[in-house]
Amino acid sequence: MDILVTGGAGYIGSHACKALARAGFTPITFDNFSTGWRDAVRFGPYVEGDLTDKSSIARVFQEHDPKAILHFAALSRVDEAMSNPGLYWRNNVLGSLNLIEAAVEHGCLDFVFSSTCATYGDQDNVVLDESSPQEPLNAYGASKLTVERILHDFGVTHGLRHVIFRYFNVAGADPEAEVGEFHRPETHLIPIVLDAVAGIRDGVTIYGTDYPTEDGTCIRDYVHVSDLVDAHVLGLRWLMEGKGNEVFNLGTGSGFSVREVIDSARRVTNRDVPTTLGDRRAGDAVKLVSGSTRAEEELNWQPRQSTMHQMIEDAWRWHQVADYRE
Ligand code: UDP
Repeated sequence: MDILVTGGAGYIGSHACKALARAGFTPITFDNFSTGWRDAVRFGPYVEGDLTDKSSIARVFQEHDPKAILHFAALSRVDEAMSNPGLYWRNNVLGSLNLIEAAVEHGCLDFVFSSTCATYGDQDNVVLDESSPQEPLNAYGASKLTVERILHDFGVTHGLRHVIFRYFNVAGADPEAEVGEFHRPETHLIPIVLDAVAGIRDGVTIYGTDYPTEDGTCIRDYVHVSDLVDAHVLGLRWLMEGKGNEVFNLGTGSGFSVREVIDSARRVTNRDVPTTLGDRRAGDAVKLVSGSTRAEEELNWQPRQSTMHQMIEDAWRWHQVADYRE
């Protein structure tokens, strides 16, 4: 069965394609290769196109017969969203709207959407569940929240069945190192730390050491990318059983500070990580930790691989063989 995977050449999308192929589906990647990699498309065919171009979306439906959609394609850099919000509204919101309209037009009514804990904003040190207020701090979170709302409206009017996953911080790599995290430029903490371990960069700047946390640095809830994509396969099956229109946080409920992540990388790699203390990064929340077990309870999801040790170990293994080339 064909499943359309937008952003299938990206970090999370490529892992999702592997999980789908393993589960017996055929992942059809749709990607503009702006931040994804052709070498990451290893588990099914692809169509090159952009969600802001309706004709390229139409082509996927002409060439393939998707029964459901996993929608990962999006811009996701907070720093970029802060400096160019229009880009985020155009790409993430208009692109998603085009996709959703095409899905309805073609009767492809099972839709899994990548949303984010950035839709919650900063909630003053509370753990976040799916009913926490959504007050995004930046255009990235706001664009994702808007798409959540569009899905709701299309559910009511057009019968689009959807699962929304609000990701906390996705980390790690395929334990077999076939695919992994590779952004250029890299902005995420763990790959930056591993770049420093490997000597690709001089060190890591810690963005803010005066936050109201125990060690003064921001706290995030990290979830292994393999666990995350397993939830998507469970969500897809759940939709196919006729259920839907539900939101799930995907996090573990454990928070790690920036300093704790760096210390863990030192232990896993047994190498030094030079650090510099820097200013806060605009748009960052103090603490984002999931307080929900809904995905465990409803989807029977278990984040089995999401220990900090394993996420860094798998990311490090991948880092040493990462071979995407354009
Ligand atoms: N961070 C940092 N130095 C870096 C990159 C990230 O101190 O070079 C911090 C960042 O401020 C945040 C945490 O690490 O508190 C996780 O950032 P990342 O960009 O990985 O994910 P985000 O939480 O922004 O989605």
